[in-house]
Amino acid sequence: MSAVTESSVVEAVTKELFIGGKWTPAASGATFPVSDPATGEVLCEVADASASDGLAALDAAVSAQADWAAHPPRERGEILRRAYDALMARQEELALLMTLEMGKPLAESRGEVAYAAEFFRWFAEEAVRIDGGYAVAPNGTGRFLVTKQPVGPSLLITPWNFPMAMGTRKIGPAVAAGCTMVIKPAEQTPLSMLALAQILADAGLPDGVLNVVTTSDAGGVVEPLIRDGRARKLSFTGSTQVGRLLLEQCADKVLRTSMELGGNAPFLVFDDADLDAAVEGAMQAKMRNIGEACTAANRFYVQRGIADEFARRLTERMSALPIGRGTEDGVVVGPLIDEAAVAKVGELVQDATQRGAEVLTGGATVDGPGNFYRPTVLTGVPTDSRIAREEIFGPVAPISVFDTEEEALAAANDTEYGLVGYVYTNDVKRALRVSERLETGMVGLNQGIVSNPAAPFGGVKQSGLGREGGTVGIDEFLETKYIAVSL
Ligand code: ADP
Repeated sequence: MSAVTESSVVEAVTKELFIGGKWTPAASGATFPVSDPATGEVLCEVADASASDGLAALDAAVSAQADWAAHPPRERGEILRRAYDALMARQEELALLMTLEMGKPLAESRGEVAYAAEFFRWFAEEAVRIDGGYAVAPNGTGRFLVTKQPVGPSLLITPWNFPMAMGTRKIGPAVAAGCTMVIKPAEQTPLSMLALAQILADAGLPDGVLNVVTTSDAGGVVEPLIRDGRARKLSFTGSTQVGRLLLEQCADKVLRTSMELGGNAPFLVFDDADLDAAVEGAMQAKMRNIGEACTAANRFYVQRGIADEFARRLTERMSALPIGRGTEDGVVVGPLIDEAAVAKVGELVQDATQRGAEVLTGGATVDGPGNFYRPTVLTGVPTDSRIAREEIFGPVAPISVFDTEEEALAAANDTEYGLVGYVYTNDVKRALRVSERLETGMVGLNQGIVSNPAAPFGGVKQSGLGREGGTVGIDEFLETKYIAVSL
């Protein structure tokens, strides 16, 4: 294998649309640039689809659907399994590609490639476990046959923060279930998805099953696909704001929807917690992916008895983190995705300090090129601050103090979001009581990371609809059919 260099990994990707098993430029010939957020430099240009290209991709998905649904589940699973092997074999070059377009440190990109691949391994195993039923009707004479069928052509829309894993988390179950797809990756990070498409094709995925459309005009390409009526499903990961808009559009043709939307995760630390573990978990929950994760701890609520010590230790850890380009050895904090992200984080910090919060470390950008913001700890953050209400998506830990469990739960649940909450306590009764009462789809109980392909990921309230991963993940791409049988 040739040496893995920055230019070689970018060069190796075909930067065109993938439609019906063929790479093709946008009909208009248009392209848009993809940049390195650590330097601002353009890495390459990729095809910029318009609505007609999107519809051509949907044509391909629709044409392939019947054959694909009839494909033996074992073979569908084996394609995923081969793709898993290929992803792991090429982990290093894919990690570098991801770091270049997204900014996260190489170690985290390697972790994401493995996490992304794991969805393929998991759903390779699930493809052959789609079950059904046969039952005697209550009247004793009739019979019920229940079987599961693929939903049909599916539209998949993914964000930039996990450019590969958010794709495999949808593609894995769709392939396993027998659905064809049109996927639109985020415009900031299309390269990982283009590389993935080639890997799946090489693994034997038939032409037309997965179609990839890159575009700088997400709304202009996606809305006609939804309104066309032939797609039967939309699976979206992104902001709550765009999710709401897409739900409205999907109502038009009554599409099935799965929505992984924003979060505003509370991180509760009780006096009886193991403080070392809580600080370690806080670092993971806050700093994984530079804070650019919907699961990121957004609000820290710490019980008064340990609040000062927790803040001191967190500040010590946060201020020691090496900042830099994700390709450099030892870097833990890469750049944020773009200038707007840095500006938003700065505004949230400023709003909190104007309302009385204190900056223990950070609170500023880094001079020079790239979209860097320093790891930041704030204390005394008033609950009406913007930072307590909005998704930060950056390396800022706002801490507030509480006295009672009731007070902590009320604050934690005082949000329109409900993706994940984190709880640190050594009291088993409290642990379960608080976990049950948190209005979230997931809880990290004495642990700062919840994501696992074998577990059901998803939120309640305005954090989303449906679950990805686990044994229920494939259901998002299956319909239940009931056949009433007369004997
Ligand atoms: P973020 O703010 O994290 O970029 P978005 O919700 O804007 O989150 O983006 C998530 C995904 O949704 C991206 O692929 C983006 O291109 C896509 N997207 C953004 N706006 C629209 C839209 N109006 N219709 C369809 N997809 C959209």
